[in-house]
Amino acid sequence: MKEDTKIASIGRDKRYTHGAINTPVYHASTLTFDTVRDMKNATANRHKGTLSYGRRGNPTTYALSDAMCALEGADGCFLYPSGLAAISGAILSFVKTGDHILIADGVYEPTRSFAHKILKKMGVQVTFYDPLIGANIKNLIQENTRIIFVESPCSVTMEIQDIPAIAVSAHERGVLVMMDNTWGTPLHFKPFDHGVDFSIHAGTKYIVGHSDAMMGSVSTRKEYYNELCDMSYQMGYAMAPDDAYLALRGIRTLKVRLKQHEKNALKIAQWLETRPEVDHVRHPALKTCPGHEIWKRDFTGSNGLFSFVLKEGHETATTAMMEGMSHFKMGFSWGGYESLILTYYGIKNYRTTTEWNYKGPLIRLHVGLEDPEDLIADLDRAFQRFNDNL
Ligand SMILES: *Cc1c(COP(=O)(O)O)cnc(C)c1O
Repeated sequence: MKEDTKIASIGRDKRYTHGAINTPVYHASTLTFDTVRDMKNATANRHKGTLSYGRRGNPTTYALSDAMCALEGADGCFLYPSGLAAISGAILSFVKTGDHILIADGVYEPTRSFAHKILKKMGVQVTFYDPLIGANIKNLIQENTRIIFVESPCSVTMEIQDIPAIAVSAHERGVLVMMDNTWGTPLHFKPFDHGVDFSIHAGTKYIVGHSDAMMGSVSTRKEYYNELCDMSYQMGYAMAPDDAYLALRGIRTLKVRLKQHEKNALKIAQWLETRPEVDHVRHPALKTCPGHEIWKRDFTGSNGLFSFVLKEGHETATTAMMEGMSHFKMGFSWGGYESLILTYYGIKNYRTTTEWNYKGPLIRLHVGLEDPEDLIADLDRAFQRFNDNL
């Protein structure tokens, strides 16, 4: 099946839909049995989509995990109520006291915070590594290293990681590779073709795609799936059926949305390159993004999210810039149809291994589905306010 056909067809098994186009929203905690044999069978096959109890899943969430598996080429997918729950759930399922984990220095900030506040408390040793380290990661692998956590591109600073090289080093030493693949989406980066063992998504972003629900997923190979389910289940993660419905609906238009986000963002990134205020643009499809060559080799597309660094600037100037925007709203998150803007102060404070020596602030944009001409005019006025307050 070609990709477009797959996107339109997956997660629509008649077991779930009963003939409707979309799998309905099943609100269910209890799922009842007709016979004792049915009950025993459901309990014995818990990870295979049998209906037993709402926390384990219901037809709506099973349809979504089937769809995620089909998109990513995974053997199994466990769903979580948010992206961060997927990250913590995946990691906690595979570490114990005394283990060591390697985490990319440019990782999503709440992942770093989880490592500091939860993993360290559990007695798991954490090392942050340079995201551009590539095969040299082998020098950081210890006897007790259990997981290498990658995120490519990194959050905010957008370094692209050499995941195949990292995976080779990891697998030589029996270490698991977990990837936060939210930026790549299941369409633009195929984790299991590049040596990743666990692909994690904040479905909250492009999968849901309309800024109206939260969702996380972890897809993996057969050999790890049962353990992932068992351990994550112990922590009580369960996904709400309404949100699963919205994620399934989001998947249907994921590819067409991404194409438009990609086109709009590239236009804006190229315009930003011509601005005298801009030091450089960190868009994976541009040469000025660290790891651009790897993006070209491993990814099949980009999207609406990227950053740029200003030559100079202070909080008064960036505040004037941000507070007068018409289309770029100030807000966390990304991946919806709308444009967003954020300024990051003190990137240095979020790194422990790599340096960040730029004088000017970093600004992150999520370019939405608005007309790029309106967005460029909005940014042009923003630079005017910035300059007036510099
Ligand atoms: C937003 C985000 C997350 C967390 O997802 P939530 O659903 O907000 O918990 C994780 N990783 C990346 C890269 C993100 O952008």
